[in-house]
Amino acid sequence: MAPTAQRPSQATGRAQQASLRAVNRSLVLDLLRRGGPTSRPSLAEQTGLTLPTVAAIVDELIADGLAVDRGAPLASARGGRRPRLVEFNTRSRWVLGVSIGVHRITVAVGDARGELVARLDEPTPSPALPEQVVAKVAAMGRLLLRERGHADAVGVCVPGLVERGSGICLAARNLGWDVVPIGHMLSQALGVPALVLNAPQAAAVAERIQGVSQGVEDLVWIYVGTGIGAGIVCGGRLLRGSRGLAGEFGHVPVTSDGPPCSCGRHGCLEAVASGGAIVRAAKAAGARYGAGQSNEYGAPEVVAAAAAGDALAAELLSHAGEVVGRAAVGLLHLVNPQQMVLGGAVGEVEGPFTNGFRAALAGQAIPFSLASTAIVCSQLGDNAGVSGALLVARQQSEPSLQLVMGGSS
Ligand SMILES: [Zn+2]
Repeated sequence: MAPTAQRPSQATGRAQQASLRAVNRSLVLDLLRRGGPTSRPSLAEQTGLTLPTVAAIVDELIADGLAVDRGAPLASARGGRRPRLVEFNTRSRWVLGVSIGVHRITVAVGDARGELVARLDEPTPSPALPEQVVAKVAAMGRLLLRERGHADAVGVCVPGLVERGSGICLAARNLGWDVVPIGHMLSQALGVPALVLNAPQAAAVAERIQGVSQGVEDLVWIYVGTGIGAGIVCGGRLLRGSRGLAGEFGHVPVTSDGPPCSCGRHGCLEAVASGGAIVRAAKAAGARYGAGQSNEYGAPEVVAAAAAGDALAAELLSHAGEVVGRAAVGLLHLVNPQQMVLGGAVGEVEGPFTNGFRAALAGQAIPFSLASTAIVCSQLGDNAGVSGALLVARQQSEPSLQLVMGGSS
């Protein structure tokens, strides 16, 4: 008999069944991903699913290469039969993560958990022509994958405005970029799907899953390096905004007639308190920092000088910390986060900057709001952006993980 068209109720029923199956698969996969070797009965107990359902899902995960059967452990002294163990296969899949910085490009390879396995760093071409950046990233990616096979996806973070869905970098003025389809370009060059995020958004995702913010539902991750930006997580989900542009903290106006900003306006926070602004102020004061005590240095050298006791460097950092802290009072009051995480070359180091930041909050924040917020430095540091890019790529290539990681698509 020829097959007949499905009635709507049948089709709906099947769709519901498929969705339920995806949820169950994600539950089992997430438990395996987080833990060590475990048995099918234990997975059934932890998920509340029946043993046959768990067994079918585990078979499917093994067939997909996401899990491996480790066999049964040796019998106990009393001779009881022990159930076979199954374990998440971290080496079953690879993903690439890319962080395109103003001074440096980082490309990393991550395992099936999205955890960083190896990374390469190269100077960003100057000027940072998109074609040259893409060629460099592709070469670095191929090198990392040489002995590992292919990657399922690539996650990319850039220091600029990234349009949600299209992977287009609308503007990254510190790179000189204006409407660059970086997602499409990297996808073509590497032959895999690409997902692009703004760098502080990626860092916030990574910090929540692997860093100091594990288990934290509401947090603001503040980047203070060459520029300034923020990644906001509300209720465990990354806040992206209608077009993906949420978290542009650096372009909050803080003075009416301040210095020009990379965005073309005047008086933005980034123009007066970023690493770039600190370096400009230090150079204007005639300071020489770094290994050669030369006039060629960046924010990390100013931070190092302050740690070594240089009074001017400490004063500049402390002042910048106060300015960023005053602006962050707004974020604190609007979001009421459990944590404010400071990252980037300037923000991630406890010292004059963080002291100035805390002092400004203590002076101007509503005490009840401040008391519910811990101010901490990033645990992932230099790896935060690229780790976020890896996690986003991982989520892209294993859709069922989206149900448990959430929020970054
Ligand atoms: Zn601006």
